[in-house]
This record gives sequence, structure tokens and C-alpha cells, in this order.
Amino acid sequence: MATLLRFAPSPTGALHLGGLRTALYNHLFARRTGGKWILRIEDTDRTRAVPGAVEGISNALAWAGLEYDFGPSKVGPHGPYFQSERLDLYHKYADRLLQSGHAYRCFCSKDKLADVRERLQRTGSRATYDKSCLHLTEEEAARRARAGESYVIRFNDSNLPVRPPSHDLVFSGLKDAHDSLPTDPVLLKADKFPTYHLASVVDDFEMGITHVVRGEEWLPSLPLHLDLYAALSLPMPHFAHLPILLNPDGSKMSKRKGDVHVLDYAQRGWEPNAVLNWLALAGWGAQRASTGSTSHPSADAPSSTQLMSLEQLIQQFDFNSLTQRRSILDPLKLEHINKHHLMQLMLTPHGLNSSAQRAQPFVQKAFPNSPFTSVPYLERVVFTLQGRLTNLSDVPSLAPYLFEEPDYTAEEAQKMLRTVRQRVGLTDAQYAEVISDLIVRLRQASTGWDASSLAQMLHDGQATSGLAPKDFMPIVRHALTGTKSGPAIADTMAVLGPERTIARLERLAK
Ligand code: GLU
Repeated sequence: MATLLRFAPSPTGALHLGGLRTALYNHLFARRTGGKWILRIEDTDRTRAVPGAVEGISNALAWAGLEYDFGPSKVGPHGPYFQSERLDLYHKYADRLLQSGHAYRCFCSKDKLADVRERLQRTGSRATYDKSCLHLTEEEAARRARAGESYVIRFNDSNLPVRPPSHDLVFSGLKDAHDSLPTDPVLLKADKFPTYHLASVVDDFEMGITHVVRGEEWLPSLPLHLDLYAALSLPMPHFAHLPILLNPDGSKMSKRKGDVHVLDYAQRGWEPNAVLNWLALAGWGAQRASTGSTSHPSADAPSSTQLMSLEQLIQQFDFNSLTQRRSILDPLKLEHINKHHLMQLMLTPHGLNSSAQRAQPFVQKAFPNSPFTSVPYLERVVFTLQGRLTNLSDVPSLAPYLFEEPDYTAEEAQKMLRTVRQRVGLTDAQYAEVISDLIVRLRQASTGWDASSLAQMLHDGQATSGLAPKDFMPIVRHALTGTKSGPAIADTMAVLGPERTIARLERLAK
């Protein structure tokens, strides 16, 4: 049977890294098994809906390159894909549960429920409700409902077939956690919208979901879901709950303010493939025996900073390799991964072009008046800066002199020159001579303006000057960039081109 998965966010805000990780694992498993996945919008809590959230989630998935097979604006046989458009279905199942005695109407007011809960707590009971409405006769409940009295439908957890054991592809042997469930959880609210539990069980069945992959925070609800499947006599899907992600300080990532929205990562210039690589491997690496006990990381499990493309992640994905431990999502690892993804991208003309395009807004923002921000020029810039670039947004700060004239009055530039001068006792006249000689050579450049010819020219200039390379190069670097470190001088000249290089040197030779 083909696998079918679903990523089921609630449109209560922007997509977080944790949500993206869930979508990613759904995608990896679906693709690994030749299956498909659905984007299902769980919008049954009308008080928490945020306008624009669905669009934001879709945009974030599109940025990451995780393409769902069915969902909003991708019609399929299991639609509609918004739960708010599937209410009849939930009512049908709630009725079935009412009829079989697995659910009942509850007319208790909020105040009454609060009193009951307090009383139960005082007596040391674990129960959260006294089931008083369970004892209403069917006639009375139906009469009160017809009379327009507000009610919810509760699950009746006292009248169940044998409770199925909890099972999970990541957490495997789970203890029975029924005791921590609320008493007779609400399935259908007073506004006739389902709660998450009813809606997700009904939809997972109706849509034919084979594997439910979601965050660990839903693990406590699993016993209730299993009860619902049993009460409705529905076949169960497989479940895989994904361990919570942590910040480096051990706090829950979902609790972090800001800085966790996927689209912020997009805006700050991170590579989508690097973010996926980072998220995928954060909890990957423990190979478990099929009995379910966690053993040592397997020798061939990828390390958390191994460079992997989406295709490679798909090929190697296996729930058995996921750890049950909460995993730290370390931003330093993203930097490492991103830098290497960028370097790989630059190996192809297409990748280079896409990097240049994405670097452009950062450069234009930093240098609004610079005429040197075209994509072809930026292709040369990013290519030259690779290996130094952690993120495309670093382009302006790494090499400002490629976009505007260097500021020779800045302390860094002054100090560079002072240091060489002191070291070799260089006079102003000698400095001008070194530069002038270089200008002549550059003007005569007949072999072309490429990095290797330029390197040769610099070598000749240095030999003529009588200065050691370690004294000669800083002089030229100072003249061209005003900055201590950067790519090789010949590469920098190649990017700047003959006119700008010569003009800069001429200004300093005077
Ligand atoms: N709507 C739930 C959420 O946003 C998804 C839970 C599930 O995947 O079953 O967390």
C-alpha cells in the first residue's frame, strides 16, 4: 500500500523551525517510500486563527522546497484540506459515537465545570470532570438540545473496548498514559466545531493517512486518539512523534521569542537546503534495534553537521535513526552547514546565478547608491568570496570595497600602511613608485584581465620593487581595499576590472 502522510499545522501564526522539521520528516518519509503527503490546515479553533497564516505557511514550505502533493490550491481526492470545510464529517462521527454510547452531551456551564474541578482536586482525585451529564437520560439530553441549550459532546472513556497499547515509530514501547488524560475529553465544542482530537482522528482515517508524523507535544494525546479509533472501530495509522527541539541553553525552542520563524531565516539569507540539512540532522544518529531500545549512535549515521542535500536526506531517512532525546538546535552548526552549501552551490552556473540574485538585496540595501550591484557582477563577487561567506547577507560587510571606494581615513586602513612603513622604512616617494610601477604594468596588460595573469603581474611588480612579498602585498591590498584581510589581491583585481583597479591605484600614486 502506498504511503500517505500529512503535515497538519494550525494557522495560528508563522511557521516555526519546529513545524518545518515536522513537514520535512513527513516529506522525507513520503518520498523515501514513494508515497505522497498532504498539507492539511487544522483551523477548527476559531479563537486562535491568524489572518494570513495559511499563506505564510505555504510560502515558508515553498521557500524550503518542500512541495506537498495535495492541499490548499492543490486539489486531490481527499479534500477539502481545510478542517473548517469538513464540519459535516465530524458531526457524522460524533453522532456515531453518541449512538454507540461512546460519547454523550454535556450541558455543564463553565462555572459549574470550574467548581467541579476544584472539588475533585480537593478530594485528591485525578479526575477533571464528575461525568454528571453521562447520567442524563437520552430523552432529557435530546430535549434540552432541541430547546437550544448549549452543549458540548464528550468522549465517554468508561465504556471502551479493550484499550489498545500505545505504539510509536520513534518512542516505541510507551507506558500506558491514559491516567494523565482529562476525564471524558470534549470532542465537539459548543460552537459545533470539533476539537483537535476528533478532527485529527476522523481526517487521518478519512484521508487514508498511513503514517502520522508530528511533534512530541502530541504524545500525551495518543492514548485518547487510540481510544477513538477503537471506539469507532477504525483501522489505526502508524505514529511517529518527533522529539522536542531545544535551544543551546536547554530551553524549549518553541518558547523562544522571535528568531524561530522560517521566513525570518529566508529573509536573513540562509540557504533553504542548509536549514533543512541542519533541522534533519539535529535529532538523527541513534540507530535503534527493532526491539526499540536506544543503543549507541550507529557508525554510519550522519553527524549533525554532515553536508547533505535534500535528495541524500531522502535516501537515508529512517525513523529508526531518530533519537528519542530532545535535541539541541545549535545555530553554530547552521553557520558551518550553510557555508559549505554555499560553496557547493557555486560549483554550477545556475547555483552561482541564484546566489548572486539572492545576495543582491543585501548589497543594494547596504550600498543604495552603488552602481556595482548587477547580478553578473555579483556572480563574480560571490564566487571570489566563497569559503569566506557564512551567509549571503555577509557579502556587503566582507568586501565593502567591491561596491564603494575604500575609506583610507579609517583606522584599519591607516594602521595597515603604518605597519609596513615602519617595518621597511618606506618613504612616501617609494610608496608612490611601487604603485606607479604597478599601474604601468596593469595598463600594458596584454594577456588579459584574469586572476592568473594578474597574479603573475603582481609577482613581477614585487620582484622589481625589491620588497619582500609580505611587505609588497599589504601595500597593494591597502591601495585597493583599505582592509587587512580578504580574497587574494589578484582575485580582487579581477572582480574590480581594469578601470576601477587602475583608477584606485592612480589616486594613491599622486
Ligand atoms: N494542528 C496540530 C499542530 O499544529 C498538528 C497536530 C498533528 O499533526 O496531529 O500542532
